[in-house]
Amino acid sequence: MKFYKDHYDVIVIGGALAGLSSALMLADKGKDVLVLERHNLPGGIATSFVRGGIEIEAALHEMMSIGEKDNRLKVGKFFDDMGVDIDWMRVPEAYHASLPGLEVTLHPGLETFAREIDNEVPGTYDKVLKLLNLCNTVFDSVNELSIHPMSKAKMLMKHAAFVKTAGYSTKDVIDTFELPQKAVDLLSPYWIYVGSGFSDLPFTIYAVLMADYVGYGSYIPRYFSHEMSLKMAERAEQMGVQIEYRQHVDKILVKDGRAYGVRTARGDEIYADYVISSAYPNKVYTSMIEPADAVPKKAIKMVNGRRISLTAFSVILILDKTAEELNIHDYSIFRGDTMDTDKCYENLAGLGPYKYITCICHNLANPDCTPKGTCSFSMTTLPQVSGWSKVTAGEYDEVKHRIAKQMIDDMSEYFGVNLLDHVLEIVIETPMTVNRYTNAWNGCIYGYAHTMEDHIVARLQTAEEEKFIEHLEFSGAHQISGDGMGPQITNGRKAAKNVLDTMKAEEAVNK
Ligand SMILES: Cc1cc2nc3c(=O)[nH]c(=O)nc-3n(C[C@H](O)[C@H](O)[C@H](O)COP(=O)(O)OP(=O)(O)OC[C@H]3O[C@@H](n4cnc5c(N)ncnc54)[C@H](O)[C@@H]3O)c2cc1C
Repeated sequence: MKFYKDHYDVIVIGGALAGLSSALMLADKGKDVLVLERHNLPGGIATSFVRGGIEIEAALHEMMSIGEKDNRLKVGKFFDDMGVDIDWMRVPEAYHASLPGLEVTLHPGLETFAREIDNEVPGTYDKVLKLLNLCNTVFDSVNELSIHPMSKAKMLMKHAAFVKTAGYSTKDVIDTFELPQKAVDLLSPYWIYVGSGFSDLPFTIYAVLMADYVGYGSYIPRYFSHEMSLKMAERAEQMGVQIEYRQHVDKILVKDGRAYGVRTARGDEIYADYVISSAYPNKVYTSMIEPADAVPKKAIKMVNGRRISLTAFSVILILDKTAEELNIHDYSIFRGDTMDTDKCYENLAGLGPYKYITCICHNLANPDCTPKGTCSFSMTTLPQVSGWSKVTAGEYDEVKHRIAKQMIDDMSEYFGVNLLDHVLEIVIETPMTVNRYTNAWNGCIYGYAHTMEDHIVARLQTAEEEKFIEHLEFSGAHQISGDGMGPQITNGRKAAKNVLDTMKAEEAVNK
């Protein structure tokens, strides 16, 4: 019996959230799909692992774009529509900000959030709510425009706030509200989720982030992020998708400017009308296309021109006491010695001490996620890829342990409890771990940085021009919707939609 069919409609490289979303959407439209995943499990970063008999979340802090059961946002709705039944648990607060002179917990809901900032910085309610409402208007526009592109003239009439703010940085727009610095600080912690300082972060990105997380709150799956990828893979297989694990794709086969299949590391050549790649364009255009001279110079120029965004450094602890016993009272804590996001970004270029970290205690949203009487607590920072690429093999252990110790000491001081006295399990994830586990380019988890020079609005306009090889699509954090597990669902759907649209257009021509 042959392992692979003679031909597929679509081959998807990578069985993580983006790749599996593409597969689900294509299978839903009756297409014959093969997913090739190099690891022995689905999920990529959306995974968990077991230490000392305890299952531990590998990455997820919070999912955006889910929404309540009766009012789903786009990602939650996609799971429901595809019959992928996730046991969502709502995260209780937006975040606790632990910043110089500020110890404040804020909750989701635009008005609630503005009121809580006003409690801390009196007299700011109206301005903060106005800013959040502006974010919400831009968010609605982005959601509509990403599905229904329209002419500039029509856009100007229907989406004036989006058009007016699109060319400005987050700092530019926030400055126009003339808020006291403390209020600005309280509106800034989520910046790390999109990874550029406010002077260089397009306001559009900030607006979407705030409207989604603050407006609608966030969620986690009861059985960790792996619940999403495992159930997506299971459902895809029910829908007829063939998924093969431990199959590393080495080459994408191209003839006459068009992709027609792949070759795996085992040497299997598999053919399809379309290929969707979760591997970064940097990797694909520099070493995966066969023949190599099928890569247009413009493709290399494009990947060289984009700035690779952030990677991750995470210390995950399983502790021998409950959160309450260890003075941990918030699900999510953003902690820094400054809330100047440009300075925080600069600090991420080095190898620590990192001045801005994001901490999660999963038990405070999902009480039974560790055995009774214990809790899980993780500390994460998101360094720039450039700093870590200089670490030599000889230095690696020292750098890793030094940074982890700094983070643990800082949070021990904060809680007034020596966390090291309570460790049952400790796991340190570095950019090298991410790179080895997912094959992501330089261990990057965020794709290409959103900057004022490389703006999402411009990327939307140039998306068509950046299709350098016909019938080859990309799906992953490196695509238009950017980083994060929720956006991977959107990126995966977009790649599948591009394939379906091309199929339709070519069928019409061939009729
Ligand atoms: C510590 C940490 C915390 C995070 N917290 C959050 C959070 O709270 N909320 C959030 O939304 N996001 C979070 N993220 C970011 C988020 O996880 C990523 O942006 C997202 O998961 C990227 O998904 P992806 O599908 O693009 O890529 P990946 O998850 O990297 O998947 C790529 C897949 O493709 C496979 N692959 C690659 N090359 C090949 C090949 N040649 N052949 C076959 N298979 C291949 C890989 O094995 C992998 O399975 C976090 C990430 C980390 C590391």
